[in-house]
Amino acid sequence: MATDYKNTLNLPRTDFPMKADLVSREPERLKKWEAAELYDKIQRQRAGADKFVLHDGPPFANGDVHIGTALNKILKDIIVKYKTLRGFSVPYVPGWDCHGLPIEFKVSQEMRKGSAGGSPANFDAVIIRKACDAYARKYIDLQRTQFKRLGVLGDWENPYLTLNKEYEADELRLFADIVARGFVYRGKKPVYWSIPCRTALAEAEVEYQDHVSQSCFVKFPVVGQPKTFIVIWTTTPWTLPANLAVAYNKDFQYVSVKVGDENYIVFRGLLAAMAAKCGWANYTETPFPAEKLSKLEYQHPFCHRTGRVFAADFVTSDTGTGFVHIAPGHGQDDYNLGRANGLPIYSPVDDDGKFALTNDLPVEQQMPAEMVGKSILEKHGKSDANEAVLHELRVRHALLHQENYHHSYPHCWRSKTPIIFRAMDQWFIKIDHKVGQASRLPGECVSASSQEIAPTASARAGETPALLSFRAAALAEIDRVKWIPDWGVNRIKGAVRTRPDWCISRQRTWGVPLPAFYDAKGEAILDAQIVRNAADLIEKHGSNIWFEKTAGELWSLVKPANWTGAEAVAKSNDTLDVWIDSGSSSRAVLMRRQELSHSALHTPNSALDWQADVYLEGSDQHRGWFQSSLLLSLAGNGAAPFKTVLTHGFMVDADREKISKSKQGGYEKPQTAEAYVKKYGADVLRLWVASQDYRSDIVVSEERINKVGETYRAIRNALRYQLSNLYDFDPAENSVPDDKLTGLDRWILGEFSKLEAEVLAAYDQYEFHVVYQKVSQFIAVELSSVYHDVIKDRLYTDAANSPRRRSTQTALHRLATGLCQMLAPILAFTADEAWEFLPGKNVNSVHEANWKSQTFVLSETENNFWKILFALRTNALPELEKSRQSKSIGKALEAKFSIKFPKPKVERGMEHLGSYLILGDWTGLEVNSLVSAETIQILQEILNVSKIEAAISDSVKAWEFIVSKADGQKCERCWHWETDIGQNAEHPTICGRCVEAVKQFKA
Ligand SMILES: [Zn+2]
Repeated sequence: MATDYKNTLNLPRTDFPMKADLVSREPERLKKWEAAELYDKIQRQRAGADKFVLHDGPPFANGDVHIGTALNKILKDIIVKYKTLRGFSVPYVPGWDCHGLPIEFKVSQEMRKGSAGGSPANFDAVIIRKACDAYARKYIDLQRTQFKRLGVLGDWENPYLTLNKEYEADELRLFADIVARGFVYRGKKPVYWSIPCRTALAEAEVEYQDHVSQSCFVKFPVVGQPKTFIVIWTTTPWTLPANLAVAYNKDFQYVSVKVGDENYIVFRGLLAAMAAKCGWANYTETPFPAEKLSKLEYQHPFCHRTGRVFAADFVTSDTGTGFVHIAPGHGQDDYNLGRANGLPIYSPVDDDGKFALTNDLPVEQQMPAEMVGKSILEKHGKSDANEAVLHELRVRHALLHQENYHHSYPHCWRSKTPIIFRAMDQWFIKIDHKVGQASRLPGECVSASSQEIAPTASARAGETPALLSFRAAALAEIDRVKWIPDWGVNRIKGAVRTRPDWCISRQRTWGVPLPAFYDAKGEAILDAQIVRNAADLIEKHGSNIWFEKTAGELWSLVKPANWTGAEAVAKSNDTLDVWIDSGSSSRAVLMRRQELSHSALHTPNSALDWQADVYLEGSDQHRGWFQSSLLLSLAGNGAAPFKTVLTHGFMVDADREKISKSKQGGYEKPQTAEAYVKKYGADVLRLWVASQDYRSDIVVSEERINKVGETYRAIRNALRYQLSNLYDFDPAENSVPDDKLTGLDRWILGEFSKLEAEVLAAYDQYEFHVVYQKVSQFIAVELSSVYHDVIKDRLYTDAANSPRRRSTQTALHRLATGLCQMLAPILAFTADEAWEFLPGKNVNSVHEANWKSQTFVLSETENNFWKILFALRTNALPELEKSRQSKSIGKALEAKFSIKFPKPKVERGMEHLGSYLILGDWTGLEVNSLVSAETIQILQEILNVSKIEAAISDSVKAWEFIVSKADGQKCERCWHWETDIGQNAEHPTICGRCVEAVKQFKA
């Protein structure tokens, strides 16, 4: 009776599919997670564990999830999942930034369309705000679905929204503390102004673009010196009506240049360039001592007033004339110089960006009547205001030269138009506010519930602290934070060092009201207690109440009982800068939400109790959220809100352009995360994100994603191979103890342990691309091309329960478990899918697992032994291949492989194998171990041949390989060539080893 021996083999089997089919399978897994309430379950399991808080920077609640936002969320999720696996309690509270111009802009547009030409100004503020609220919530729902689809786990049902009334109230309470400490003032200062958006802008709302300005060289007649002029140069002719002074640099050499019958005073270093531009062919120059300049007075070129000349360091020698025209109402340097010299902060421009007369100067000293009403807003590079000024200069023969000037100029992030600097009354946070001596600010001990500020120790002791500026305190605080990559520290320091006072008021509707009032004289009332009362009111009713109630009603609701100040007659219509919203999350989220508290540290009155472990955002946030969060938290809570700040670059396309809707050759690069998820699945996108060194910009290309797709398949196949050989393995029953494992299994577990140590270090340093490289390399080399291949024979042909097969299954089980955990932070879906097929798991989802490192350490001797065997394999395989090529053998299993080693030499008391030293380090190894029965069996497996003959010989000087045909016959079951075939009458066609396996199979 012929037996079908194929049925007696332990062939692999598993239901873990080869084809990933992520696009349809991932959503099913998401449903499973939701049904199991996986996030909540994990939080419960980790209750009481050490806490790790990654605080989410809130994306704007408009539009689909951009691919760059997806990158940010995936990186955060990798950290959250990794730290969770390592046993931490890692609550993740996602947030959304809900107020602000982008939404108000869109909503106003839609309302205008719907109302047949009505202007949004005609709409009641409350109506606009309700529409904005609905708009924001619509996109929060949409983005929430898209973030979940990426596999991001978090408290999606309870996110923080800056439009929530509790959030708004906490934001105002933080603001009240800052008001109480004297940081906030109302002043007339130049601010960035967007004409189309009719609002002041924050630093972070300004973007620099290339711009062509109309620059001009203008003659300012010197009073009392006929035909003598100071020459200024400007790129903003529209600021000339606001000119009140001229600045020079006292370190420059000035000259008086005689051209025809006129004399021009200019900086000597720029004379040649000017002469070329103005076409001065013949001129003579005489020195004009700088110290005489400050005595000069000049006549404004077209207004009935005179101005004076002041020294200033900001006058540079690279372009222009060495003189800077000063309009204190239109520039920061100008403002400072104007203030220092008692000039009015004159800004003759209205909210629409049109020339207007003001009360700062007598009307007859202001611009000619025909200029009033001309608009500064540029259309196609020209503006009515610039044209009117240039015309005026031309007719008065004051224009020496005019040309186009290419430079980088600030633009409004929404309307993309050039911004203007414009002095107006706004609310500011004073950055150079004097805050005290301690490098920590007072109020270190503020908690969310307490409104009282604890004095610092030194203040309590009655010392007189030397005053420290808030800017210096912020710079010192920056040094206490860890910045990754480390250049982040310089970037944020640079931003903080140079930033002007923070303009925090906006003339917009969709925001948190700035709860100030005005008295009958028009004086502003901003009081910490009033702000706190307003916060309580808003926490109860929402911030619409500020817009619904009259000033009188509000005043009666929030006026402190013991108020002795002036009575309010009007309320402020300003809203707070949206960067105050998101920047207040330290108070409104970190301090407010119980699950984020590090209370286990038992440091209730210290910042450590609420500080987040990590903030992670794009590198533009050094100017944005990192900075606003730091400044507000330091001013209001007494410490930075973060311990570590991680930054990532941006998604750029192959031309290093920021990803935008650029159509090139009719091909539109998708910008939304969804486009990629629908094509590749979330896990391939996640793996691709992990594969990139995110510290610099990330190039998005289909080619790169496809390449990562190949790695994904290799990982999946490796997991599948392991799982498919564990179908009859119960780790509790069948595991083999470490010291009983076969050498080969010990070797792979040793290698895996090394990999694991490297992967853990990489995760701990947030270097996910290193995780990707190490894991994919290990799967390609150690697993796929060595171990998985070599163990096939023993897995399939040994008796199912043989110690050797169980040993290898023990190793495979550990490898699969370890790989699932190692990959789970990145391949959130696939690792979980594979985990389901693991026998003997103690939790249902890999994301609930507790990843303990395996630390399987081989002795140095054992390690060296394996290094030598694999070096031998590398040298032997080509010999086998040669024999196959020459047809002297067919398959490798037909081969007998004879190795002759030369007799060891003894030198300096050490035995060694002459030329085989190249094979590796022999420390601790005996040469005879190379020809032991165990080694021969291993060599047979790793070379996949039927027979090995190894001997130490006098006759060879270097090693020798001889490949010949194996003796005996081919076993029908295992295909090895053996000499014991036919010895068993019952099984005449199979080898002795197979006879044993078949016997056990039957039993
Ligand atoms: Zn056999």
